[in-house]
Amino acid sequence: MNEKISVLISEEKIKKRVDELAAQLSECYSGETVTMLCTLKGAVVFTADLIRKLTLDTRLEFVRISSYDGTESTGKLKMKYPLECSVKGKHIIVTEDILDTGRTLKFLHEQLKAQEPASIKLVTLLDKPDRRIVDISADYVGFTIPDKFIVGYGLDHDQKYRNLPYIGVLEQ
Ligand code: 5GP
Ligand code: MG
Repeated sequence: MNEKISVLISEEKIKKRVDELAAQLSECYSGETVTMLCTLKGAVVFTADLIRKLTLDTRLEFVRISSYDGTESTGKLKMKYPLECSVKGKHIIVTEDILDTGRTLKFLHEQLKAQEPASIKLVTLLDKPDRRIVDISADYVGFTIPDKFIVGYGLDHDQKYRNLPYIGVLEQ
């Protein structure tokens, strides 16, 4: 099968938006220590760029929730790589690659809330609001996009294309 990728958001536009998000977060949490909770694997590239622009005392943790199989949502959620640190009393900033049906972030948000953090905020690079099934929204959104299958800048199709420096639409 031939796969074609068309650029949706350029490397330059991503960089500018990541800088803006980092500035907003740095102002919002000024003087605080934050724990960035990166959702594996898709948010790794975004998170790596974002944390280097934060002017905050920043810790980095990872979690992996799996809900996707190829391009179809299975609707089933699994904690494949659970949190290694305690959340209680901490300022948690969850970073996600893309908010689609909302199931993943809803699931994670509920798990985190039960552990009594000082605060939780959700940051997503991309938001596809047309696809939402459960009631959840992000506190910070990089780009709101139409209902297309996205690859690049951390996002994959069958583990390919995560290393693309831009955000693209996969045309099949
Ligand atoms: P949700 O639980 O919100 O439906 O799905 C979130 C997860 O589904 C994302 O973290 C991502 O891994 C995957 N996903 C949703 N839409 C896309 C997409 O357009 N492209 C890719 N590569 N993954 C997607
Ligand atoms: Mg993800």
